[in-house]
Amino acid sequence: MKYASFKTLDGRATYGIVEGARIIDLGSSHPNAATLKDFIATAEFGKSLSGVEFELNSVKLLPVIPNPGKIICVGLNYQDHVKEMNRPGSEKPVLFMRSANSQIAHGDPLVRAKVTEKLDYEGELAVIIGKPGRYISKDEALSHVAGYACYNDGTARDWQRHTHHWTPGKNFDGTGAFGPWMVTADAVKDRATTFLTTRVNGQQVQRASLAQMIFSIEELIEYISGYTTLETGDVIVTGTPGGVGDKRKPPLYLSAGDTVDVDIDGVGLLQNTVVQEA
Ligand code: MG
Repeated sequence: MKYASFKTLDGRATYGIVEGARIIDLGSSHPNAATLKDFIATAEFGKSLSGVEFELNSVKLLPVIPNPGKIICVGLNYQDHVKEMNRPGSEKPVLFMRSANSQIAHGDPLVRAKVTEKLDYEGELAVIIGKPGRYISKDEALSHVAGYACYNDGTARDWQRHTHHWTPGKNFDGTGAFGPWMVTADAVKDRATTFLTTRVNGQQVQRASLAQMIFSIEELIEYISGYTTLETGDVIVTGTPGGVGDKRKPPLYLSAGDTVDVDIDGVGLLQNTVVQEA
């Protein structure tokens, strides 16, 4: 099943089930679950439901989870990306945080701020937590996953490198694209045959299977829940494969009018076009 967060024509923020070209509004019939994050925690999550329907292309999509408690991003989680960044391998996952207000939806402008010269793409798989927990073992990890979505961890490379902390470069307004929807966890069966592809203006720039992650989804959940309680609606952005614009020859930084696709088999196609901040 597919779930999206969206705004109706009259500006009401809600969420629902995507079925083909339609979306079934669940927010209006679930007053105790104001957002998709709240709904994931209910017993009705994953069940087929009816309600008021809208044409999908008539609503304004929002980031899949507009208000996650935490967005935990994983750096250097594919071998070819570790190599191109000229970084040593790490025995533990490299983690950093992204703020919710850096997020945008499918179709929103990806913002190239006036203070960066080096806006870059990073196609990634986002994991959305369903069941909360602390000290979750690898074996139990997948039972805590509600679903998956596409993410573009848009990065200002110049600001990422001002110091040895990545926070500014990874948190520009309008750079964390998350969408168009989440699929429930059952949609990704075999990671070895599930490919993540990033395209810039239709040209393929990144491609890897989800099985190529250095730290698997299970290992990430075990590690992260070792220090913090994972809560419903938290998002783990699992890292990007090789092929980022910064390491291409010549480099491929994004500029106004460029379109970035993050396309994951069975998950979705996230597309955003770059706008230059005036
Ligand atoms: Mg990244």
